[in-house]
Amino acid sequence: MTINTIVIIGAGQAGANAILQLRQHQYQGKIILIGDEKYLPYERPPLSKDVILNPDSTKVEILSEQKLQELKVDVILNHAVQKIHRMEHWVELSGGEKIHYDKLLIATGAAPRRLPILDALAKHVYTLRNLDDAQALISVLQPDQRLILVGGGVIGLELASSARAKQAEVVLLEVGSTLMGRSAPRLLSDFLLTQHRQAGVDIRLDTQITAAKLENDHIILDLNHGEQLQANAVIYGIGVIPNAQLAIDAGLDVDFAIQVNENCQTSDPDIYAAGDVATQLGEDGHYHRVETWENANLQAAIFARHVMNIEHPKASPAWFWTDQLGFNIQFAGDLHVSDWHIRKIKDSKTTLPSFIAYGLKDEIIVAAITVNAAKKMRALKKMISSQTSFASITEIA
Ligand code: FAD
Ligand code: NDP
Repeated sequence: MTINTIVIIGAGQAGANAILQLRQHQYQGKIILIGDEKYLPYERPPLSKDVILNPDSTKVEILSEQKLQELKVDVILNHAVQKIHRMEHWVELSGGEKIHYDKLLIATGAAPRRLPILDALAKHVYTLRNLDDAQALISVLQPDQRLILVGGGVIGLELASSARAKQAEVVLLEVGSTLMGRSAPRLLSDFLLTQHRQAGVDIRLDTQITAAKLENDHIILDLNHGEQLQANAVIYGIGVIPNAQLAIDAGLDVDFAIQVNENCQTSDPDIYAAGDVATQLGEDGHYHRVETWENANLQAAIFARHVMNIEHPKASPAWFWTDQLGFNIQFAGDLHVSDWHIRKIKDSKTTLPSFIAYGLKDEIIVAAITVNAAKKMRALKKMISSQTSFASITEIA
């Protein structure tokens, strides 16, 4: 079948990289990019950091208008796709317009999981997913503000770091007993706990909100331990929900996220999904959803290669990073292992702690974390890929 038109729903990380990859692999047909935001595709990682701390000097754009013209992409912004007509190969926009596709990529990302007890206040309550959200937070993260952050995941911790840089007072509430519990092993959670407390973040673990109200323009929260806290604003980051409703309505296989095979194809071979909205079948026979910048780029590349009939490159270990309190922390491989070994960096140029944590399974390196040691990550990924034994590498640090 000749592919004349590819439609991409979602002008985010995966959508943008899909365009670049399609053109790089010599796709000559029409590309139509449809985004529900008013912006051209932009990077989300700076939203919790530089967009708030250095708004004037921070550039987030992935593809400029000029670049999109060069790449011959038809861009429709400010319009959500509201329905996929699979039989007819159409997508229908919020205004009712119907657009034909031969192949379709769903790259709609995810949305913040809602906390109704806070949303009900309707004032001084924030979440962070897009550029508008980040811009709204600039005036909130200010020296005279007392803030409560709900959720000790990546959003909560990166915002705590930015808020302290702005000298705001910060209390952080985490329902679990560790920080970044979804993605970090215990040793790193404990390290972050110490560092954030030293930086003046008042962290409460095993803590939940039981009641919330607005009083004299302040937010008052009751906590499960009986305490009451007051704040000028509350920002919460308690995880995300994939934007999978289009796929559900279209009858595609969805289990919370859109199920895709190794080629990022959904249960309809003409429809693909990539990024935060997708959950991909792994070699272990299970579906895995990965919410990272790298995964969005990778799955977009898999989609483009499959459409162009090009083999996928060999998989490398999963990787992501976070920047908090002057620490650049990078993670690679299977972070769920329990056997971790720390090596301090001997020649570190920074006064802050700097180390590598090796995650082992049967004495083989299967995961690694660098803390202010980014330059070591490339070698560590190679060690993970080549199943290097820990005993053989004691000199890397
Ligand atoms: P997105 O980039 O979210 O793009 C999806 C787009 O689709 C959005 O513009 C959305 O509005 C649009 N859309 C949704 N529904 C429709 C519809 N029906 N019609 C049209 N358009 C629609 N990852 C890291 O690895 N390191 C980091 O440091 C890091 N920092 C982050 C900081 C923040 C504040 C956030 C929010 C995320 C961060 N991430 C980070 C995660 C990373 O940015 C995401 O995993 C990545 O953006 C996912 O890409 P995506 O294309 O799947 O979704
Ligand atoms: P996370 O899932 O990382 O963290 C959410 C945290 O909130 C968890 O520790 C969770 O605990 C806790 N939580 C859940 N419910 C409550 C509650 N009612 N009260 C207090 N704590 C609660 O999600 P985030 O919201 O931090 O991040 C959202 C998205 O943004 C993710 O896709 C993430 O990948 C992305 N992002 C990535 C960054 C990076 O990679 N550097 C930076 C910023 C954002 P439990 O697990 O026990 O439910």
